[in-house]
Parts: sequence; structure tokens; C-alpha cells
Amino acid sequence: RAARLQLQPQLPHPALTTPVSDASIHALVDAVVAARDSGNLAGHSDESAFFAADLSAVYDSVMTWRNSPIGERVEIFYAVKCNPSPMVLHLLSLMGTSFDCASTAEIQQVLALPSAPDADRIIFANPCKPPSFIRNAQQNGVQMMTFDNADELHKIKRIHPNAKLVIRVLTDDSKSLCRLGLKFGAPVDTCSGLLQLAKELGLNVVGVSFHVGSGCKEPEQFADAIWRARRVFDMGAAAGYNFELLDIGGGFERETFAQMSDVIKQNLDLYFPLEEGVRVIAEPGRFLVSSAFTLATSIIARRRALDAAAAPAPTEGEAEGADVMYYINDGVYGSFNCIIFDHQIVHPYPLTIGNTPAPSAARPAFPPPPNVEMPTDLTVQLGYNSTERASVWGPTCDSIDCVRSIVNLPRGVDVGDWLGWGEMGAYTLCAASTFNGFDRSPVHWTTGGDAPHSAQVRAVLDSFQPSA
Ligand code: PLP
Repeated sequence: RAARLQLQPQLPHPALTTPVSDASIHALVDAVVAARDSGNLAGHSDESAFFAADLSAVYDSVMTWRNSPIGERVEIFYAVKCNPSPMVLHLLSLMGTSFDCASTAEIQQVLALPSAPDADRIIFANPCKPPSFIRNAQQNGVQMMTFDNADELHKIKRIHPNAKLVIRVLTDDSKSLCRLGLKFGAPVDTCSGLLQLAKELGLNVVGVSFHVGSGCKEPEQFADAIWRARRVFDMGAAAGYNFELLDIGGGFERETFAQMSDVIKQNLDLYFPLEEGVRVIAEPGRFLVSSAFTLATSIIARRRALDAAAAPAPTEGEAEGADVMYYINDGVYGSFNCIIFDHQIVHPYPLTIGNTPAPSAARPAFPPPPNVEMPTDLTVQLGYNSTERASVWGPTCDSIDCVRSIVNLPRGVDVGDWLGWGEMGAYTLCAASTFNGFDRSPVHWTTGGDAPHSAQVRAVLDSFQPSA
């Protein structure tokens, strides 16, 4: 076993060596674009796409959480899967959040951070784990883990019998962007049997978890889930347990957070009153990182129908009515995989037009106000009145690689121009492939310039002293 552990790769600590600028997000994007266009970066002009990440938006989201009605009671266990950039994990760890990991690699990444938290700040929140992952958790001191079936209990009994187990209960996720209940969660009426089995096996079940689905649109789903969790707490008591932990999962979005946190607070007060002393944790992913990342792509090619009459009739939903087709250098096999896997609609805005910088007033507000949904047509909203209907395509040779089938873009956008895409921090770069030989887009970091909290981010990063 020791030999096997030594073979595991030692992850570098890029969080300490990654340069972090103090420019605003828009200034950072402009500076990188200008450097790429002028050839200052690599000695030759480099049009490749890149992310600009503003850590102040991550900080801002943590503070929004902590200042919300649930902030005092509900601890953050950040869902690493959503965006495992070491810099994000480092900042969150320094801010005292804990982590939800779903695999051995995620656990090792968190424990290899220069600011690594103790293993009790990790929950292994994957109800169906390979045996080797359970063994690795045990060897690394990770105790908290979820289950939703009998076989998992037998596996855990064999490999990690002292684990602190959390039963994941199935809840209503019908109004969520990504439904997770199709795959995970024990229906309430099976929980009693599972808890009795756990008791017979001598296992230590400490609480209940659920996930209402990622991108939850309906606060009532949280209300219903907390009520179901209460029922399972009572089943636990009947099986001889005294549960101490409730994990309310992820699913939060900035647009609806105020409403969600109100509903959650009311239902926690009702079903888990403070005086009962139940510890409440949550596993937000998207909420903390989505708005922090902006992607900049350049237009590598354009096709315009020479003879509109000769153009094939568009099929429904497919580039319907587009006057011009733009090809950019990131697509659905790369950072825009969120269109396919995360059911997102992405919104472009011009960074340059005709190879000169677009007016800086015509940029989306940053950070986006928390309770405002992204407009469906950013270009028009930003004041461009002379637009044309475009379709936007990724760089691969596959026709599924369509980023927007129809969107208004300002007239005059040309090959070599740059498009910005906001809200690109969640479930994007972590799931990007290099299909067809296209690289993943690298990240440039900033503390945010004049954005709220940028000074605090710099102070948090500077306060870090690596232990000898
Ligand atoms: N927790 C678990 C177990 C998940 O599977 C996920 C997402 O799939 C999350 C938390 C994070 O969800 P979100 O990004 O919607 O907050």
C-alpha cells in the first residue's frame, strides 16, 4: 500500500506561482487581447482563446452567502467538480470553506493545496464509489461520505468501517436545469430499510443529504427536500441513530439566491430548529464561480451566403435565418461543453469590431447584479442598433459544434475580431476536451481592479504563509 501511495503523482502547487493581476476584468481581457494581437505574448500574433477569471467575484459570492439568511447556519462545502482551478480552491480554502469531492483525484487535489484543509473539511459526496476510492479516502483520513444503496454499505463496511455516513435521499428535481435524481438518491420509503441494514452492519450513519438538481429554479423544491430529510431523520432515530448532520447539497444560482435562502431558512427553522443542534452544510458549486470567469474567443473564419436565394432552407432551430456564420476558436468540445452537458445558453458581446476595440461602455456590468438574469440578447441590450443575425460555431470539424444557432451581433464584426462570453465559470473548463487537436483555453487571473472586494482578495492571498 505504501508503495502504491508513493506512485501517486505529486500535484504541483500552481496556486502559489500563478500570477494574479490587479486589473479589472474588462481591462485584463483587453490587455491580453492587445498583447495577442500585437504579438507581445509569444513573439508572434496569437489569436487563441483564453479565460479571464476575477477572484473578487468568488469572494463576493462567499460573502453574499455568509450575509444571507442562511449564512450563519449553513457551512459551505464547495463542489470541486464545478471548477477545480487550483487558484479558486486556494482562495476558498483560505476563506475557510470546506469541500465536496466526488473522486480520489479531487480529494488529492484539495489535500495537495498549499493551503490544504484538514481531511474533516472534506465530504466525499458521491453515493456510488469505486472500492479503491473508498480505500484512498480512508488512508487520507476522509471520514464523511454519502451512500444511497445497500451494496455501498457492504463495500464501506469492508473497506472503511469507521466512516461517518450520510444517507442521500431522493428529492423532487423536476424544475432544475440538470436533474440528478435520475441517477442518485434513495426514495424516502427505502431509507428506513437502508438505515436498519447500516445498523446491523455496525456502521456509523451521522446524517442526511440531498441535491435538488443543479440550476434549481423552484424554491419549493428545497422546502420539500428539507421536509423529506426530516422524515429520514426520524427514521434514523427509529433505527437507533441520533443524526447530527443535514447536507442540503447544491443547486443555487445568483439570480434566485435571495429567494432560495429565505425559503431554506424558514424550512430549517421549522423542521430543524436551532436548539436541536443539527449541523447544516451545503455543497454549492455554480453559485460561487459562475460569474467569475469570462471567456474571450477570436473569430477565425466567416462565411456569408453570396446568394441568399441559393442558400439551403434552414431546418427548424438550426441557424435559422442567420445572415452570417462566424467560426470561433473554442466550442462545444471545449469550454462550451456547458451547452451540451449543462444545458446553458451562452451570450456573446463584442470585444473588438473591425479589429479595433469595441466601446468600453458597451460591456456587461461586472460583477453582474445578483438578482438579474442574463439578457437573451446582450448585443442589443448593450446598445448596438446596427446588428445582423449570426450563427456562431466552434473550431472542430463536427456540425454539432454550434455555440449559438442564432444571435444578433453588431454589423462589421470581422475575422480577427474578439467576442467575450460572461458567466463561464461553472462546468466549463473542467469538462473541456482537446478533440480534433484544439487546446483547452488557459486562464489569466485577476483580483478585480475596482470591483467590490478586490482589495480583500489581494489581502487574503498575501496573508498566506506556506508552512515550511
Ligand atoms: N453536490 C453534488 C453531489 C453534485 O453532484 C453537484 C453537481 O452536480 C453539486 C453538489 C454542485 O451543484 P451546483 O453546482 O448546482 O451547486
